[in-house]
Amino acid sequence: MVGKVKAQKLARLGIETIGDLVTYFPRDYEDRSSEKKVAELMDGDECSVFLTVLSDVTANRPRPKLSIYKTIAGDDSGIINLVWFNQTYIKGRIIKGNRYIFYGKVKKRGSYIEITNPIFEDENAVRKKTTGIQPIYSLTEGISQNWLRMVQRNALDLVIGKITEIMPDELRSKYSLTEVNYSLEKIHFPSDFSEKDKARKRLVFEELLMLQLGLLHLKKSQAGVSGIKFEKKQEIARFINDLPFRLTNAQYKVYNEIEKDMTSEKQMNRLVQGDVGSGKTIVAVIAILLAVLNGFQAVFMVPTEILAEQHFRSIEPMLNKYGIKTALLTGSATKKEKELIKDGIRNRELDVIVGTHALLEGDVVFHSLGLVVTDAQHRFGVKQRAELSSKSNPDILVMTATPIPRTLALILYGDLDISVIDELPPNRKPVETYAVGENMRQRIYRFIRKKVQEGRQAYIICPLVEESEEIEAEAAMTLARKLEKEDLNGLSIGLIHGKMKYNEKESIMREFSNGKIQVLVSTTVVEVGVNVPNACVMVVENAERFGLAQLHQLRGRVGRGEHQSYCILICKSRNEIAGKRMEIMTKYTDGFKISEKDMELRGPGDIFGVRQHGLPEFKIANLYEDMELLKEAQKAALDIAKHQKLEGREDYKKLYRHLSEVFRGKMQEVALN
Ligand code: ADP
Ligand code: MG
Repeated sequence: MVGKVKAQKLARLGIETIGDLVTYFPRDYEDRSSEKKVAELMDGDECSVFLTVLSDVTANRPRPKLSIYKTIAGDDSGIINLVWFNQTYIKGRIIKGNRYIFYGKVKKRGSYIEITNPIFEDENAVRKKTTGIQPIYSLTEGISQNWLRMVQRNALDLVIGKITEIMPDELRSKYSLTEVNYSLEKIHFPSDFSEKDKARKRLVFEELLMLQLGLLHLKKSQAGVSGIKFEKKQEIARFINDLPFRLTNAQYKVYNEIEKDMTSEKQMNRLVQGDVGSGKTIVAVIAILLAVLNGFQAVFMVPTEILAEQHFRSIEPMLNKYGIKTALLTGSATKKEKELIKDGIRNRELDVIVGTHALLEGDVVFHSLGLVVTDAQHRFGVKQRAELSSKSNPDILVMTATPIPRTLALILYGDLDISVIDELPPNRKPVETYAVGENMRQRIYRFIRKKVQEGRQAYIICPLVEESEEIEAEAAMTLARKLEKEDLNGLSIGLIHGKMKYNEKESIMREFSNGKIQVLVSTTVVEVGVNVPNACVMVVENAERFGLAQLHQLRGRVGRGEHQSYCILICKSRNEIAGKRMEIMTKYTDGFKISEKDMELRGPGDIFGVRQHGLPEFKIANLYEDMELLKEAQKAALDIAKHQKLEGREDYKKLYRHLSEVFRGKMQEVALN
């Protein structure tokens, strides 16, 4: 259908088969349905005009690579100028005295009217280009809009009418979904926008329904997997009793949900969601204890070495009391250390391993792995989750500090059971948050001094530099030096950034943790999970560069002890969105609330690092615009799953077969060339 060269170019757009092509949806549309007379034309109009060409086309070549073709054309209401650049074919095609339909963007200066590079068709031809609604596709080098439209048209002509409808009638009528052939035709070449909207609704619904069904299916197939049946242990109550604090009701509730999973025959696949500071770690530790008391090993995986170290330091002594041996395994351990730990894991000398992903990738062989806890889920994709559990059949507990609205949680974690710690430990004072301008800088520094004199500590977070960790590190160094010499001189200032070696970071964090460093200047490396309860001031430079998720995480670094804490957002931008974000931060402290607000503000594609969650890429759905449809699709999926329609009924079987094909990544395997 297309040549080899073009086929290769299409492949760059992810188009390899006819199925890929007809599901390569327009990113926008151009409305060419408007027609006007010359006298009605206004500057900026995009419309078609019927015109008689009044002069021969003149060619002009001011520079070697530039040729300009001009002519004059008119109707009974006036005349206009037509200009083409570098379109050599114009000369033979536009003939004086003939009538054509021209379409393009009108430029009008006083009585002078011009259309540059108009598209045109013979007056008597079947109009294709100068009328209707034209799709606009995302392109790649060597593929033009017009060419892609033509190929798309040909592809549709081949398949439309032959595509099997997989959506059961019941669903189509319940949710008012158009038929599949109609929908594919009209999404590309609608006669009007309402046709396009109907077509789009059907296709979006299908896409979201497939995703939901797929996740539910995954969940169900996991639910069938048998796992380890742990026994309840009395020591658990003793351990909880010995804690320096009382568990919150929410922590109890979530632990009970975990225990129920762990003591059943089935494999646990549970996500624990909880805002920063809600006390997820201890819940995980209790689960780990249960696993080890049952004679199994457990792993606690975290995204960064700093976190691994921190968790190790807090967990190790708690478990040690019960004779449990915990080891830290991170990428920066020496080869020999790693070998020793791996031996210990293999021959069951070690019970609990706290570590980074290095664990996952390496050749670690467990003697008897019973439980995997992964913290800060947002760095793990769906795929890694699957890989992890396929290694053996341990119970899986995923912890995330990223509060996301329930609808989204269902998309991201539809394959997991979800527990929410929806309560903070008592007596937490909400962090007082202020968004201020540059003019407050000196007052902020005085405030930091005062707090340090009172014995507290502070964080100062440097501007985010997206492009380069080097520039970011550079900026952090400059700021730290300046503070040391001038604004905060006399205080002990530490610096930490992403370009430092692990050991350096580690020792700085330790000094901050034990109070030797009073003010920590840092890039966002402290974002996740760091716990220094004595720190009570968080200053964020250029706060407008951070997303709400990050700001919320950063703010979560303070307010972790008994001291009243403060978060000061220095914001230079007068930009409206930035302003709204600052307002949200000063008004709300609840992460779930903030994530909802964030979603209203910018759409879920960006919120709370949803991309990093391993959100599948959609061909047509847009989670922000299509939130209502998403809810309907979720309802439909749950309904189908609940009534086991996929198994029982003929009409749903088709849907299911299609689903499994989609999940295997197979659409129509018709080669393009
Ligand atoms: P996160 O949910 O952000 O991971 P952590 O597990 O790090 O939170 O807990 C934050 C702090 O709160 C820790 O210092 C922890 O010891 C403390 N904490 C946890 N649960 C409670 C509780 N029920 N009462 C008081 N403090 C608690
Ligand atoms: Mg934590």
